[in-house]
Amino acid sequence: MLPPYRIKVVEPIPFLSAEERRHALAGAGYNPFNLRAEQITIDLLSDSGTGATSVAQEAVAALGDESYAGARSWFRFVAEVQDLTGYPHILPVHQGRAGERILFTNLLKPGQICISNTHFDTTHANVHLAGAEPRDLPCAEAADLDSVDPFKGNIDLDALERVLNGPDGERVGLVLITVTNNGLGAQPVSMANLEAVRDLCRRHRVPFYLDAARFAENAWLVSRREPGYRTWSPRQIARRAFELADGCVVSLKKDGLSAVGGFIGLRDPDLHARCEANLIATEGFSTYGGLAGHDLERLAQGLREVVDPAYLRARAAATSRLAQMINDEGVDLIQPPGIHALYLNAGRLLPHLAAHQFPGHALGCQLYLDGGIRCAELGSLYLGRLDDQHRLVSPAPFELVRLAIPRRVYSDEHFQYVAAILADIAKDPERVPGYRIVSSPPLLRHFKVRLEPVTRSSTVDAG
Ligand SMILES: *Cc1c(COP(=O)(O)O)cnc(C)c1O
Repeated sequence: MLPPYRIKVVEPIPFLSAEERRHALAGAGYNPFNLRAEQITIDLLSDSGTGATSVAQEAVAALGDESYAGARSWFRFVAEVQDLTGYPHILPVHQGRAGERILFTNLLKPGQICISNTHFDTTHANVHLAGAEPRDLPCAEAADLDSVDPFKGNIDLDALERVLNGPDGERVGLVLITVTNNGLGAQPVSMANLEAVRDLCRRHRVPFYLDAARFAENAWLVSRREPGYRTWSPRQIARRAFELADGCVVSLKKDGLSAVGGFIGLRDPDLHARCEANLIATEGFSTYGGLAGHDLERLAQGLREVVDPAYLRARAAATSRLAQMINDEGVDLIQPPGIHALYLNAGRLLPHLAAHQFPGHALGCQLYLDGGIRCAELGSLYLGRLDDQHRLVSPAPFELVRLAIPRRVYSDEHFQYVAAILADIAKDPERVPGYRIVSSPPLLRHFKVRLEPVTRSSTVDAG
């Protein structure tokens, strides 16, 4: 699976001593979000805006038209997005969450329910901020981390139908399907599932939207795993997925292969007019939406490159190889491996740590301390419920660590390094300490929370 590109511009990566890393992490309140990039050797915190651009993207960026309104770059961008999605109305935004805010405040009414396979964190927050209630209905297969079911990103159709037919049915204001399911193991959603959601939503007259940050990666996995789509191109599959929905909100920091960007795609002209007014007031005029002309150019080109089967095949294979290396070291991760990230089963690797000691967070910190690797916890620190004293009252279902894979950035040698650091931890997991929260913000806790390691002698009374 040769990547269909070679490297032309490189960026040096920092190497710190173990002592420097210890000092850096303590200074960051044991929250990797607070580290400086120059303190990190391998950054797997996010695949968002972290990919490498191509020569073609940088070449067209030089042609960026920075006119305030009606720029050439806008027309190139919108033509590309309309051709990809089929939606007549496209609103550009500086990143996905701006699109969420604008769409939800115009589509959802206070007291309504937004149902999803799994809401992404900012999506969850923006549903709340619109006064509505986010509700996740992942399929039952998703709860078995080891199962190799091909479409564990699907929504639970029976549960969705029960809500729509039940006492809360009237309150459902939106069904939003995240492709791929970032909150639950980067697992793809099948076309059959999307079709069934479309049918249910039509019958109940509920809007059906896609949160399509990884539309190309989902399309690739559909082409590999779903009967009937073998001969479809990733672009055709993506187009079909967009066709099934009434609209979409997309962060282009992922499959747009660019550092910034996003868009809202709509069919409903009235909703478009309402969102557009909001966009102009808060993001920018409707032909740039907070983006520069050169960004729009990079995005238009990136949207072509991302559906290249050779690119998607190589990217999926690279992630699978890293998954294999990690498995070979005896560390379990959510199966089957997705494309943009791997999710380590920290709960299983560190059974000596209880949920209130945040095993996922502990593993993430150890990866930094031992190897300068940065990643994100997806466990009780992120999803659990805490009391006023920051004590865990209800844990997350799983204690996971997400290794996000930036696009076109790291090589197999980098991955081998990550696997070797993990192998070292797996040989003596008991040396990994638990953590306790020192201070925590009320919303989107994981971004700003500060913690400290729990020493052996204090584990007994840690709650
Ligand atoms: C990244 C992401 C978002 C938010 O997009 P930003 O560009 O980071 O604001 C929304 N949904 C999903 C599934 C995402 O992965």
